Amino acid sequence: MFLSGKRALVTGSTSGIGLAIARALAAQGADVVLNGFGDPAEIARLCEECSAIHVGADLTTTQGVEELMDKASPIDILVNNAGMQHVAPVEDFPPEKWDAVIALNLSAAFHTARLAVPHMKARGWGRIIATASAHSLAASPFKAAYVAAKHGIAGLTKVLALELAEHGVTANCISPGYVWTPLVENQIPDTMAARGMSREQVVNDVLLAKQPTKKFVQPEEVAALAVFLCRDEAQNINGANYTIDGGWTAG
Ligand code: NAD
Repeated sequence: MFLSGKRALVTGSTSGIGLAIARALAAQGADVVLNGFGDPAEIARLCEECSAIHVGADLTTTQGVEELMDKASPIDILVNNAGMQHVAPVEDFPPEKWDAVIALNLSAAFHTARLAVPHMKARGWGRIIATASAHSLAASPFKAAYVAAKHGIAGLTKVLALELAEHGVTANCISPGYVWTPLVENQIPDTMAARGMSREQVVNDVLLAKQPTKKFVQPEEVAALAVFLCRDEAQNINGANYTIDGGWTAG
């Protein structure tokens, strides 16, 4: 239980990768703050399972992030994980979708970090981890906002790493390839429309075609690396962007 006495906030942790990270940090003794939307009864069950509290703030607004940080602070381990996707050709990309994806996938991570860092500096210890994406390193068509936001969070992470290096605080990205979660499932209809493909073609010829292993990554694999980055052995891993993509970005 090497994380006893540490408080961890995982944004977007009522589902998918964030939930797996929250579970893994709780299993190591961290006091976990869950965030995200969902069925209240299911969220209450997750809180009980992880001995966690839940703050359901909407992180597409600065006010929502500030409300979350008011209720969740002080934070020792910040996992910026909440994210959304929108798939459309650039000329049809709705400006409000661009704004929402940038707000949630990028700006929220800036706001959580600026509000968490003073406590981390004062304590002389902290971990900032972003669930970035293979799309922080490589692009795909029809994902203008997502790819821009993910490249942005990779840059933000490097800045945090340099600024905080002498304070016992590290900042790193984990960049998964395709993980089978609601975020991926929900983009299939729009990808079918944008590419004129069937569902099966999208799964095999678009999603899994990217991953040389031809397998989806499991949320627990991402969570295991997040836990490792919190260990003292990882104190010199700083400003890194770790891919877990079956070899996608090696190509
Ligand atoms: P998911 O849809 O399963 O979970 C998203 C979480 O974010 C949920 O808890 C949801 O309630 C929460 N959320 C959504 N909108 C929010 C808002 N406005 N405010 C606060 N919370 C909000 O998605 P996932 O696949 O687990 O994705 C998690 C992260 O991993 C995202 O940043 C995503 O970009 C990244 N990622 C996912 C994949 C993949 O293939 N699934 C690959 C690479 C990176």
